[in-house]
Amino acid sequence: MKVEFCRHNLDEKDKQEVRKALDSIFLTTGEWTRLFEEKFAAYLGCNHVVGVSSCTSALELALKYFDIGPGDEVITTPMSFIATANAVEYCRATPVFVDVEADTGNLNADLIEAAITPRTKAILPVHLYGQMCDMRKTADIACRHGLKIIEDCAHCIEGTRDGVRVGELADISCYSFYATKNITCGEGGALACHDSDVHAWLMKARQHGMSASAADRYTHLYRHYDMEFLGHKCNMNNIQGAMLIHQIDRIETLLKERQRIAGLYEEAFADNPAIDFPKVLPSGNHARHLFTLWVASLQRDECMHRLQDAGVGVAVNYRSIHLMSYYREKYGCHPGNFPTCEKIGNATLTIPLYPGMSDKEIQYVADTVNLVTANFPPIR
Ligand SMILES: *Cc1c(COP(=O)(O)O)cnc(C)c1O
Repeated sequence: MKVEFCRHNLDEKDKQEVRKALDSIFLTTGEWTRLFEEKFAAYLGCNHVVGVSSCTSALELALKYFDIGPGDEVITTPMSFIATANAVEYCRATPVFVDVEADTGNLNADLIEAAITPRTKAILPVHLYGQMCDMRKTADIACRHGLKIIEDCAHCIEGTRDGVRVGELADISCYSFYATKNITCGEGGALACHDSDVHAWLMKARQHGMSASAADRYTHLYRHYDMEFLGHKCNMNNIQGAMLIHQIDRIETLLKERQRIAGLYEEAFADNPAIDFPKVLPSGNHARHLFTLWVASLQRDECMHRLQDAGVGVAVNYRSIHLMSYYREKYGCHPGNFPTCEKIGNATLTIPLYPGMSDKEIQYVADTVNLVTANFPPIR
């Protein structure tokens, strides 16, 4: 049996919409991008959404809006995809890592204040695996110290916690529609914000800092464009927008299926002392983006290889960012800097979790994990 690590969920309706976009005049940013932005803003409950080509670009634009640059510090987590810290690097600012919570892997809000210096400009939390960080606590700290909040919501478009929605307490929140994410257009991203000035700046910043989009320039009487500032080139095109708009309607249905599969896994591993997994907090909605397991760190790679040999797709989300060569060399980071993050980074592996998995596939993954770990040392 072969169980892919991930499969997308595009259906006939999505493909028909893409076909319509392909038959239209503008393949670049236009009507479908705008439709996506409207629908996604309504889904999130944010005033504005700006479609871009990736979450990495979204994070970079968000930081740039707040003029974050050389000499500035951004507090973030070392337990994330490298894109989170890299976005800070692209701005030539400094990522300041803070250790994570042992039970969830999320940025530990209790450690944020000790990392604040006069150079700190923003806090950049990541809702790891789909479970929200403590945004009430984080927003309170940001408010008292005059810091901006940029949320990396690449794992978590569906999340709520303590009555707070993703993006609700952020100045800008960033989303990914990369191939493996909960909804996808292959490559794509978005920013959400509440403020119309932020929105107006981002709309220009995604296209060089130009004052009019191609569709605006050519559709009516030709309008000259001006360039007001040096932006980027990361606009979302109509094909990406078309692929996403109907998926937004299915988010809740897809999430229910993710929750069901995660529940089956938790049940299957409940009596296996060789396996532990992140705690699911009772106070909200977990987006169930990734199902990660922890095993004894000496057995982690063996566990992955044996699962792969049995045809089960696996991944590691994530090894600590601060231990990547670039960050070690640039900032002198080393093992021991963020022990909780490193412990998770050495013990974690991710198994398949996506709507469309058959009951047989789910059962096979669960049975194979239990079989492979049968002689592993207990970790709980
Ligand atoms: C996938 C991911 C990103 C980057 O998203 P792209 O759209 O591929 O740029 C950023 N942060 C996290 C936590 C991610 O998982």
